[in-house]
Amino acid sequence: MNPQDYMNRELKYGAHNYHPLPVVLEKGKGVYVWDTEGKKYFDFLSAYSAVNQGHCHPKIIKAMTDQAQILTLTSRAFYNNVLGEFEEYVTKYFGYDKVLPMNTGAEADETALKLARKWAYEKKGVPENEAKIIVCENNFHGRTITIISMSTDPDAYKGFGPYTPGFIKIPYNDIEALKKELEDENIAAFLVEPIQGEAGVYVPDNGYLKKAYNLCKEKNVLFIADEVQTGIARTGKLLACDHENVRPDILILGKAVSGGAMPISAVLADDDIMLVIKPGEHGSTFGGNPLAGKVAIAALEVIKEERLAENAERLGKIFREELRKIDSDMIELIRGKGLLNAMIIKPKNGKEAWDVCLKLRDNGLLAKPTHGHIIRFAPPLVINEEQIREAADIIKKTILSF
Ligand code: PLP
Repeated sequence: MNPQDYMNRELKYGAHNYHPLPVVLEKGKGVYVWDTEGKKYFDFLSAYSAVNQGHCHPKIIKAMTDQAQILTLTSRAFYNNVLGEFEEYVTKYFGYDKVLPMNTGAEADETALKLARKWAYEKKGVPENEAKIIVCENNFHGRTITIISMSTDPDAYKGFGPYTPGFIKIPYNDIEALKKELEDENIAAFLVEPIQGEAGVYVPDNGYLKKAYNLCKEKNVLFIADEVQTGIARTGKLLACDHENVRPDILILGKAVSGGAMPISAVLADDDIMLVIKPGEHGSTFGGNPLAGKVAIAALEVIKEERLAENAERLGKIFREELRKIDSDMIELIRGKGLLNAMIIKPKNGKEAWDVCLKLRDNGLLAKPTHGHIIRFAPPLVINEEQIREAADIIKKTILSF
């Protein structure tokens, strides 16, 4: 089959809920992926930051294949000998009393919302069914009905109503708006992405998270950080909240918890919050399976052993510096933190971010536009200086060709 055959087959038999860049991948190793014709590319999306440890990291794949031959799934109807090991490891790693393991990011977000509501009724004294959660405009937390009920993006919510009530939407990076809404005594939580990834890598002002956290504390409101995309070393610290020394009351993780090997997500909190959910009140058939446990431990070990947060911090600076040197009226802005970066494109002669991404592909680098005019650059964190400079050169050459 040639690439067009592969694409046609997906188009014919698969739902049309994505619009992929025309490239058909068949292999990945570290920062590189290869297409079915053998052409090699830098992967500058990293599966939306799931592959922070690089494609097919040998340690993660070994943990996966070893455990896959022993025991993969027991369900939570029984104990297994790995889940506790994972729970102890991950709670000590991030510094929380307890973890609730799930699979996808969306499920972890849903879990956090349920925890916050239940906590509000049982601990804060909010009258039953009246809890509200403050969220931010342009958020992205996943695709379930409740999560799209929090969305302000018509592509995400339009046509899927009726929506789940109980959410208040305020502008991102707006402390005054938060302060005003926190006056309501029925607020259970404030849910925020420390950097809005899907929205186009919006980095809030320095101090925003800390101020928001402090305001929440004053009002006995839970501060929930969705670090599904920003977490696990992506922004140059283990968590993006670490840049402001904020410890979320509820921490939501996904994606890179497995290094891209399988869907694993986790919600972390202390006992006062986590124990409001009792047996039978929440769960998932696959959540906390022993295969996931071993994979997650290996994936988190790689982050520390290979010092990926430090690498992201250092190379992110070099990368942004190099991109800012490109002299082109097609670049409106470069922004980001660590290795979560974006280039805002000003269309030129009818050429837009999509055309830039097609040309980047031709030149050996894969990235995907978001919201039409923003290109996110988020390579695996195992990238080295020589590679990041080579990638920046490809981007420069591509932009200047327009
Ligand atoms: N939360 C954030 C911040 C995300 O960026 C994403 C996915 O991009 C999700 C949640 C949803 O994760 P999943 O696609 O695994 O459900």
